Amino acid sequence: MKIWTLAAALSVASMAALGGCSKTPGGETGPETPAAAVTSAEAPRVAEAAYATRAYFGDTHVHTGWSADAGMDGAITTPEDAFRFARGDLVKSNSGQDAQLRRPLDWMVITDHSDGMGTINEIRAGNPEMISDPFLKHMYEVMKSGNEEESGKVVRELINLQSNGKLPKQVLDPRWMVSAWAKTIEIADKYNEPGKFTALIGYEWTVNAGGGDNLHRNIIYRDAADKAKAMLPLTTFETQDPEKLWEWMAKYEATTSGKVLAIPHNGNLSNGRMYEETTFTGGPMTKAYAEARSNWEPLMEVTQIKGQSEGHPSLSPNDEFASWDLWDRSNLNGVPKQPGMIRAEYWREGLKSGLRLEAALGANPFKYGANGATDTHTGLSTADDDNFWGKFKTVEPGPDRWKRDVTKPYLGWEQAAAGYTGVWATTNTREAIWDAMKRRETFATTGPRMTVRFFGGYAFGDDDLSDLVKAGYGKGVPMGGDLGESPDGKAPSFLIAAVKDPEGANLDRVQVIKGWLGADGKTQERVYDVKWAGERKPGADGRLPPVGNTVDLKTATYSNSIGAPELTARWTDPDFDPKAKAVYYVRVMEIPTPRWTAYDVVRFKAAMPAKVTMIHQERAFSSPIWFDPAGSNVATAVTIPGPAQPSAAPKP
Ligand SMILES: [Zn+2]
Ligand SMILES: [Zn+2]
Repeated sequence: MKIWTLAAALSVASMAALGGCSKTPGGETGPETPAAAVTSAEAPRVAEAAYATRAYFGDTHVHTGWSADAGMDGAITTPEDAFRFARGDLVKSNSGQDAQLRRPLDWMVITDHSDGMGTINEIRAGNPEMISDPFLKHMYEVMKSGNEEESGKVVRELINLQSNGKLPKQVLDPRWMVSAWAKTIEIADKYNEPGKFTALIGYEWTVNAGGGDNLHRNIIYRDAADKAKAMLPLTTFETQDPEKLWEWMAKYEATTSGKVLAIPHNGNLSNGRMYEETTFTGGPMTKAYAEARSNWEPLMEVTQIKGQSEGHPSLSPNDEFASWDLWDRSNLNGVPKQPGMIRAEYWREGLKSGLRLEAALGANPFKYGANGATDTHTGLSTADDDNFWGKFKTVEPGPDRWKRDVTKPYLGWEQAAAGYTGVWATTNTREAIWDAMKRRETFATTGPRMTVRFFGGYAFGDDDLSDLVKAGYGKGVPMGGDLGESPDGKAPSFLIAAVKDPEGANLDRVQVIKGWLGADGKTQERVYDVKWAGERKPGADGRLPPVGNTVDLKTATYSNSIGAPELTARWTDPDFDPKAKAVYYVRVMEIPTPRWTAYDVVRFKAAMPAKVTMIHQERAFSSPIWFDPAGSNVATAVTIPGPAQPSAAPKP
């Protein structure tokens, strides 16, 4: 970890966004070490920049063998294995293969399920109290037999029993959670190295409402074990109602003076419930509800192994990139989708609905920034297509994993090797990473470590592109921020910079996706091509021609002979209506690259049918910037991180 002073951080701040980057040992982009940098030998502390100068990449959603479904499926990795893997160590996978990340992550959260926490290890060990129940005895025997097909069936039955409130009473006993939670948080503290690798404490609250409607939330702590131990994680045995979760979070904060946030995921598997416009129990939304939801849930996971929840082609028919990684046939338990459900499942539509609800309620319940994660159940956080370890042990690398069941009705090949979150933080500590998540200064990627900067304001000029980050923070708001009433009805402009993954593919284009609330009370959206690689010109239909394709499927390779390493622009909304609430976010598209299935074909000679996707365009999504004509002015709308000061000292 390089350490730099405040003055140096300011002077190099823009380089990180504009590609003037050096490769750190971790492989992520970072500013060149300024002359004033001190060596770690003379300064055993973590310096903090005045504002976020670097994107730290990590995963908010990782299950180990300690999650009941993962353990039942044969996962034996522990939280220690998961942290070691994330920081770059070589570990043994659940199927006994050597697994290692090519580049370590900067931070990670382990989110084993709170439901049944601690019980799977007891069942595996044949604890007599557990196996006195016939179903748990069956689990024990299947685990002992190692029969993968039978394990898969039991995992599905487990989800079925959990989502219908029919789990055996032994699993509901919080006693097992006490020691599992104590160990979980102790291990996170052990692996947390401020300034080098951040191990955040977390858990998953896994609500499968009404038999499998996915309303899961990951709870992420800013704190160490001394505070996190004060309360046991909330389970869905106690409640399935998110308002009760927020009460639990408020109680935790009041009790410990700690801080927690929640990130929902897989709206795509919620069968119309993630963005439903009532409370969980069917009551009307209120302003208090909307304020609580946006306060406790700053981010939404929009891409992960079980498909994307960003947007859907049926909702965005004019978006030629809307059809990717779709898991849109059922809820988590295989219950088929009915017409109309998709409208309340995807982030983009939710952001638009949020504007309409804000006009009605006075607060926006769906004010979600962008988050990407894996939701791996192997303990191995991998989102690289050429090093993808799958959702479960049974789909770890092997010649026939593409055709195995993952979660019925979805098959192995449908898994997405996704995703990670880039966090624009002032340093790599629990506090700085968490604070950036809370203020929504994050972007989601489908795996590649490309970076995206996005600032909105009314005072930007083209000159500001030369020192984009300084101008962005100084004259506007970063991603996650709010723009208030426009001076003289002037349209806002946006500073945008995207830089390719230093070890990955070039970029095709940068786009702004805008949603707005019309005077008729209806929401609309539009996708704008802002900057692109090469000499392409939009056609008569306004569409930019495709960037091309260099993928060679025989070898699973591509070439950076097309595309651009970075794309930077100042963009002004050409359709701005000073009276209309709006939301803007950036989408960065890579050039086409081989999907993980293509690597499997080459590696394992796997023979997959023609319908299996082999080439894709990976992408990143910024958190939005919201425009509210009724809001306060830009200058006071967002708190920019305070002055530099040393933060948490590393452990001796
Ligand atoms: Zn989940
Ligand atoms: Zn999960």
